[in-house]
Amino acid sequence: MAVNQLFSKLVDGIYPPTCVLCGESGQNHPAKDSSGLDLCSPCQGDLPSNQNYCFQCAIPLPLAATNPQSRCGDCLKSAPKFTHSCVPYLYQWPLDRLIQRFKFQGNLAAGRVLARLLSQAVAADPETKPVAIVPVPLHPSRLRERGFNQATLLAADIAKDFQIPLLGNALLRHTANQPQADLDAHHRQKNIRGVFSIKENILLPDSVALVDDVMTTGSTLAEAAKVLLVAGVKRVDCWVVARTP
Ligand SMILES: [Zn+2]
Ligand SMILES: [Zn+2]
Repeated sequence: MAVNQLFSKLVDGIYPPTCVLCGESGQNHPAKDSSGLDLCSPCQGDLPSNQNYCFQCAIPLPLAATNPQSRCGDCLKSAPKFTHSCVPYLYQWPLDRLIQRFKFQGNLAAGRVLARLLSQAVAADPETKPVAIVPVPLHPSRLRERGFNQATLLAADIAKDFQIPLLGNALLRHTANQPQADLDAHHRQKNIRGVFSIKENILLPDSVALVDDVMTTGSTLAEAAKVLLVAGVKRVDCWVVARTP
């Protein structure tokens, strides 16, 4: 048993997994050599799952998808720059509560649960096999306000789960745009243009996964993907916890 596995086991012994939603016992890791999940099975079952969604932008499809790569009308008309999105949940109660606690109250246990849920979904998705992870950077003023980037914390946990590199500073985000939340879809797209660049002298692999907590219109992810493709990456996928329906 590796030292970190032994450590996880010890921590689980002292602080057994406890559900972040209801306070009941969480789930022990099946392998017993990794840390448990701070979420009970019934609460996990209550989370609003995103099923039958667009292969590319993850919006729920109105009709049952005929094949796993079905796309929505918007993506068929004008495809975003990323290839595929794995977004297992909808941004609805009680998943939204977990994200808000993580993001705005700095609840790291909630963040670890979200990362684990996303890892589980990615592991079950045969369509995505990136070799490195890039978190979507936060607007610099937001980063100062919050003190941490939620996407970076999620990405770090997921990179550990898949044992692939985390390119934490590959993408840089510049100021000069309004918070996306205040804007409609069209203005979001305009507002986000040109805010990302690639760190100088960084070696990028052929395929990367962009990680974020919530996907709203997908315009931030599409802009980040565009910049990565221009820098030589061949394929960008998006791994995001929740989709705004
Ligand atoms: Zn629970
Ligand atoms: Zn779509």
